[in-house]
Amino acid sequence: MGVGGHLSGGGFGSLARKYGLSADNVLDAVVVDANGRLMNRSTMGEDLFWAICGGGGESFGIVLSWKVRLVAVPETVTVFSIIRSRNQSAIELITKWQEIAPVLPQNLCLHGLMQDRFPELGMTKQNCQEVSWVQSTAFFGFSTTSIPTEQLLNRSSNPHYYLKAKSDHVQEPIPRDVWESIWTAWLEKPEAALLMLDPYGGLMSSISPSETPFPHRQGNLYQLQYYSFWYENGTAAAEKRMSWVRGLYKEMEPYVSKNPRAVYVNYRDLDLGTNELDGNVTSYEKARVWGEKYFKGNFKRLAAVKTMVDPDDFFKNEQSIPPLPAAKI
Ligand SMILES: Cc1cc2nc3c(=O)[nH]c(=O)nc-3n(C[C@H](O)[C@H](O)[C@H](O)COP(=O)(O)OP(=O)(O)OC[C@H]3O[C@@H](n4cnc5c(N)ncnc54)[C@H](O)[C@@H]3O)c2cc1C
Repeated sequence: MGVGGHLSGGGFGSLARKYGLSADNVLDAVVVDANGRLMNRSTMGEDLFWAICGGGGESFGIVLSWKVRLVAVPETVTVFSIIRSRNQSAIELITKWQEIAPVLPQNLCLHGLMQDRFPELGMTKQNCQEVSWVQSTAFFGFSTTSIPTEQLLNRSSNPHYYLKAKSDHVQEPIPRDVWESIWTAWLEKPEAALLMLDPYGGLMSSISPSETPFPHRQGNLYQLQYYSFWYENGTAAAEKRMSWVRGLYKEMEPYVSKNPRAVYVNYRDLDLGTNELDGNVTSYEKARVWGEKYFKGNFKRLAAVKTMVDPDDFFKNEQSIPPLPAAKI
């Protein structure tokens, strides 16, 4: 993926609990607006700068460059992968993980800490490998340290695959019996793909929800991502995989954030609605349906910035931020 969309929507990585999102570390940017004006932070002003650091790509202008704060990473970091099946207490481990991961110290110091806080996982030295930071990102992508880091520069996607993702925010640990039934009903299906649990807490919790448009801060234990992948062309394969993701997402509704059911904008989900015009509802009212799920109370401020910088809605897609209707200005 590219930094254009990634930083525009927030940018979550494995160091987020220590350093926040990519967007939290943007210091300046060069943007072209709908009138072709080239601006940096001081000439665009703080409202537009705020909006481009997390308000999602393609609504306000084209970002030509980002200036980011570099952060210190140690010479070596430790990665590990522990595989546990259902017969090896996987459900108990997930249940417990929910209470442990979001409150681990943000300067995670692996060995002793995991034995102390999460002994059930049975982590040993043999599970761990010390690698450089860039090797750890390759490990995250390829699930092995044997693929050279040069592969991170390979821009082609081979084999080509299709992907549908959704996301949720979990605010209370999901009970063990719920994980049991999800596992049986959904994760053992042949079309099942991937659930990913990204712990929040740490620095993420001390940043105010209005500091950037990304509002999912204190009060969230973790982000839950649902993925489906498929390789076949044609609608039959797509429908089968998409209905797995959609069905599981529906099933999870009672256990995740509510009013709104909060979603991460970088996992764009057109199932949440679009602001295509039809009938009497303004595009702003239509957009609020998905917009408040992505941005909560920041949605209205994003629409106000849009009104200021692109009132004719030149930069537009199915889920771009619309200008405020005249009555709300
Ligand atoms: C395999 C995979 C893994 C991912 N892993 C993570 C992860 O670990 N953490 C995470 O936070 N997210 C992750 N994402 C989500 C990722 O952040 C988004 O898909 C993001 O939109 C990617 O940005 P892009 O520029 O590559 O995408 P694009 O699809 O090119 O762009 C996304 C949107 O931003 C707009 N845009 C792109 N460039 C610019 C620009 N320069 N100026 C203005 N608008 C622009 C586009 O028009 C489009 O609307 C992952 C996605 C994939 C496919």
